[in-house]
Amino acid sequence: MEFGFGEEDEAFREEARAWLDTRLTGRFARIVGRGGPGSEHVGAAQRRAWERELGSGGWIGLGWGDGAYGNRVGTLTQQVVWAEEYARARAPGRYGHIGENLLAPTLLAYGDEEQRRRYLPPIARGEELWCQGYSEPGAGSDLASLRTCASRGRDGRWRVTGQKVWTSLAHEADWCFVLARSEAGSVRHRGLSFLLVPMDQPGRIDVRPIRQLTGTSEFNEVFFDGAVAADLVGEEGDGWRVAMGLLGVERGVSTLAQQVGFEEELRGVVRSAVASGAVGDPVVVEGIVRLWGELRVMRWNALRMLGGGGGGGAGGGGGAGAGVGGVSSVAKLLWGGWHQRLGELAIRVRGAGGAVGPLDWSAAAPYALDDQQRLFLFSRADTIYGGSDEIQRTIIAERVLGLPREA
Ligand SMILES: Cc1cc2nc3c(=O)[nH]c(=O)nc-3n(C[C@H](O)[C@H](O)[C@H](O)COP(=O)(O)OP(=O)(O)OC[C@H]3O[C@@H](n4cnc5c(N)ncnc54)[C@H](O)[C@@H]3O)c2cc1C
Repeated sequence: MEFGFGEEDEAFREEARAWLDTRLTGRFARIVGRGGPGSEHVGAAQRRAWERELGSGGWIGLGWGDGAYGNRVGTLTQQVVWAEEYARARAPGRYGHIGENLLAPTLLAYGDEEQRRRYLPPIARGEELWCQGYSEPGAGSDLASLRTCASRGRDGRWRVTGQKVWTSLAHEADWCFVLARSEAGSVRHRGLSFLLVPMDQPGRIDVRPIRQLTGTSEFNEVFFDGAVAADLVGEEGDGWRVAMGLLGVERGVSTLAQQVGFEEELRGVVRSAVASGAVGDPVVVEGIVRLWGELRVMRWNALRMLGGGGGGGAGGGGGAGAGVGGVSSVAKLLWGGWHQRLGELAIRVRGAGGAVGPLDWSAAAPYALDDQQRLFLFSRADTIYGGSDEIQRTIIAERVLGLPREA
C-alpha cells in the first residue's frame, strides 16, 4: 500500500489550506484553536455555524463511499491531508464528529438506503448534529447490562424510556442514537435495538449537563420518558451487532483526524519547553522523543485500518466493523495512553506553576486554565471513554490472543 502524497494530493492540500485560511477569519476567528479538550463550551453558536460552513465547502463526509449523499469523496491520502490541514489551521473542535464519523459509517454498513438518504445529507451539510446514547449509570464497561427500554406502540412507533449518562454534546445535538432493550425480559446483548431519536421532544427528553474536571460541561445525563424514535437501524433485537460495529470505528479510524491534531499539540508542548527552558531537563527531552516515535506508530496503525487492514468486517475498509480482529482496540490503547502522557509532559514542562491558576468564580469554570492545564485535566478521560484501557486489554487477550475468557 502506498501512503505517500502524490501531485493530486498536494493540489488538494493547497485547496484545503486556502479554504481554511480564508474561512477562519471574521466571525470564525474567535473559535480558532477552541472547542477542544477543556474549551468545549467556547463559541457554541459560531461552532454550529462553522459546521454549516464546512458543509457548504464540501469538507464533511470525505470518507463516505461514492459520494451519493451530497458528500465530496476524498481518497485515503486526501482524508489524511484534510485532517493535517485542519490541525495546522487550528480549526475548531468539531461538533459534527459523532454524526460524520460514527453514525454515518454505521448507516453505510447497517442502515437501509432510505435511512442513508434521510440522515446522511443533513450531516454532510453540517445541519444536523448527533450524540451517542450508550452508557447508563449501571452500564458502562458492561454495556450489555443496560436497562433503557424501547417498546412499540399500536401506531408502530418505538418509544424509549430510561436514563443515559456521559452523553457528549447531548445539549447541542439534534439527534441521538440510542441502544435500548426492545425485548422485554431479554438479558445481556440479546433483545437490544439501535434506534434514532430526535432530541427536540420537550417533556419526553431532559438533558442535564455534568460539570467536568476542567470546570466545563461537555457531557450530560439524558432522561427519556416515552421519547419517540424515528427509525430502527438493522433488525429489531440485533442492536448489539450494530452498536459494536460503531464502537470499532469509534476506537479506531474515526480518531485519525484527532491523532493528526495530536502532532500539533506535541509541537505546542515542544514550543513551551523551548521557551521556558524546560528542554534542559533530560526527562522532558526523553518524553518528547518517546512521544514523537509513538505518534509515528499510531499514524501507520490508523492508516492500516483506514486502508482495510484492520480485519475488514461489514463496512469493509475503514467503515463500521473495521474493529474486528482487535486492531481498533490496539489503536484505542495506543492513542488513549499516548495523549494522557502528553498531558503529563505538558504539566511537567509548566513546572510547579502548572498546578495553580487564578480563581474566577464568575466564569464557566471557577479557575482559568491555560491550554496545557486543560490538556492535562481532560486527557485523564482518554483512557476511559470509547471503552476503558482495561476493557481493550480484555478484548485483545480473549479475541486476538485466545487467552481464557474473563470469569
Ligand atoms: C469524556 C467522556 C465522554 C464520554 N462520552 C460518551 C458518550 O457520548 N456516549 C456514551 O454512551 N458514553 C460516553 N462516555 C462513557 C464511557 O463510554 C464510559 O465512561 C466507559 O465505557 C466506562 O464506563 P463507566 O464510566 O461506567 O466505568 P465502569 O464500567 O464502572 O468502570 C470503572 C473502572 O473499572 C474498570 N473495569 C470495569 N469492568 C472491568 C473488567 N471487566 N475488567 C477490568 N476492569 C474493569 C474500568 O476499566 C474502569 O477503570 C464518555 C466518557 C467520558 C469520560
